[in-house]
Amino acid sequence: MIQINEDLLKEIASREQIQLDLEAANQQLAAISSLDALTGIPNRRRLDEVLRDKWDKAVIGHIPVAIIMIDIDLFKLYNDSYGHLEGDYCLRQVARVINEFRRGEQDLVARYGGEEFVFVAVDIDKNDALRLADKIRSGIESLCLQHSRSFIGPYLTASLGISWQIPQSIDSLTECINRADRAMYQAKNEGRNRVIMAE
Ligand code: GH3
Ligand code: MG
Ligand code: MG
Repeated sequence: MIQINEDLLKEIASREQIQLDLEAANQQLAAISSLDALTGIPNRRRLDEVLRDKWDKAVIGHIPVAIIMIDIDLFKLYNDSYGHLEGDYCLRQVARVINEFRRGEQDLVARYGGEEFVFVAVDIDKNDALRLADKIRSGIESLCLQHSRSFIGPYLTASLGISWQIPQSIDSLTECINRADRAMYQAKNEGRNRVIMAE
């Protein structure tokens, strides 16, 4: 009788451990699937989830949101000159420096696409958003990653577009992202290595 009870307790303990291991594995999997494999920062999928949540909360709380699009300048030329592996190294460095400006969970930094990143700053006034974007711009240039074929300067640079607003329920998040994107392209057209705030 005692033997049967002991066996039963062992069986229960073993099943509980399996359950715990499974939960831990699932959590790890969720974390990995929301991170970009190259840079280790959140990926586009994670951005979509978190940004929607931040936006909805900002609408309710009348909180300003700044979306900053960051695109590396002449990166194709960089890859052509130094190779794809060196290019990957740059992307990691750029992601790290952008992420250093993040104010904890309040903000979000993500890899948006190939050589594009997004910085979402919540509860920031318009002038501070502009200052922040310029610090990011300068931080990337200050990495001093040699780019000998760039016509902008000796080092790798980036162009940034900002869209800032206190969202209301009728406002579209997609339109806010598009405005940041257009401002970034304007920064490219006006000479790159600069920040443009969308009107
Ligand atoms: P612009 O200043 O107008 O943005 O020019 P660009 O050359 O940066 O823009 P373009 O869109 O022509 O090229 C982007 C390049 O980014 C091309 C692609 O090979 C490179 N790229 C995208 N993802 C990765 C990546 O994961 N690793 C590396 N090494 N390169 C990448
Ligand atoms: Mg691009
Ligand atoms: Mg580019």
